[in-house]
Amino acid sequence: MAKITLDNLAHSYLPHPKSEDDFALKELNHVWADGEAYALLGASGCGKSTLLNIISGLLRPSQGRVLFDDRDVTDAPTAARNIAQVFQFPVVYDTMTVRDNLAFPLRNRGRDEAYVAARVQEIAKMIGMEAELDQKARGLTADAKQKISLGRGMVRKDVNALLFDEPLTVIDPHMKWALRTQLKSLHHQFGHTMIYVTHDQTEALTFADKVVVMHDGRVVQIGTPQELFERPAHTFVGYFIGSPGMNLLPARIEGDIAHVEGAAVPLGHGYGALSGKVEIGVRPEFARLSADEGLPMTIRRVEDVGRHKIVRAEVFGREINIIAPEGEGIGPDKTRVSFDPDRINVYADDWLVPPMAQRSGPVGEAA
Ligand code: ADP
Ligand code: MG
Repeated sequence: MAKITLDNLAHSYLPHPKSEDDFALKELNHVWADGEAYALLGASGCGKSTLLNIISGLLRPSQGRVLFDDRDVTDAPTAARNIAQVFQFPVVYDTMTVRDNLAFPLRNRGRDEAYVAARVQEIAKMIGMEAELDQKARGLTADAKQKISLGRGMVRKDVNALLFDEPLTVIDPHMKWALRTQLKSLHHQFGHTMIYVTHDQTEALTFADKVVVMHDGRVVQIGTPQELFERPAHTFVGYFIGSPGMNLLPARIEGDIAHVEGAAVPLGHGYGALSGKVEIGVRPEFARLSADEGLPMTIRRVEDVGRHKIVRAEVFGREINIIAPEGEGIGPDKTRVSFDPDRINVYADDWLVPPMAQRSGPVGEAA
């Protein structure tokens, strides 16, 4: 197991990049803590595989260094990095049996046959393929082959890190959940440093201790699922995580008041002078329908999703979503929407603005 440091890392697929736009991976400094499970989350094309392949050594970064613990591995080939990587599509030896496929990484490292046999049996159980151990991989479905790839990724206990690049894409939906649970328990059992790439927020939030959100070649936030929910560092995180995502309204901020089209919205904190594109962001969970309080609103549609209702509405011509508890009456008197002041975030040019330091209370009063 290892701590992985990305030092001043960036990558362009072009030989002579001219501007930031030419970089598939924009400059990044980050330490992946030893033994932590991370999800790397972002839309297709945002640079997730580029980053993962730099860590595994399949790709040499055009700038910066990769360190495993304190060893510089930037120029070390994949084989010298002692990692396991599982890709989106199966990588198996078709002419070998399932058993030999699973055994391959262990035999390759010179483990004795008794150990290999026992470990292969354990892994076969984890991926639900005990019955197929003596079949050739060739005749199996893509789904079964991918399970073998996952098994091969998990078979060695002594790797520095386990890297998964959207490994469940070709897996049957009901099997996905089971395999994700297996990966999680593997992490609890052995404490590997794990990086799991996905474009699916549910997958990311259920798998990882920490989620690394990427957007347009840039890491925009690294946080626990709760941090991403409560304090999105970038409007993209607010929009991408949550269902529906965070509401955004253009505003002008004066101290602890946001002015939205001339209407005053109280904020939980005070802010200094802001420039650029200024918006307030509030999650649908922290917006409430009201008869007499808040911004004027027109309801367009109500979706009952069982646990609660999603109210699709408009405020000053902009779409806004409100989550209303199951059982709340949504009558024609509900013409306004109010927000929990402490749950409103302020953004300038899409980045979260921290509130001004709160004044301390009178001496002797508990905080
Ligand atoms: P993701 O895994 O998040 O979908 P990728 O890392 O595969 O994203 O791609 C990031 C960007 O780099 C995309 O714009 C993609 O088109 C580009 N890209 C990926 N691989 C190559 C390559 N081998 N050559 C040139 N451009 C590439
Ligand atoms: Mg990818």
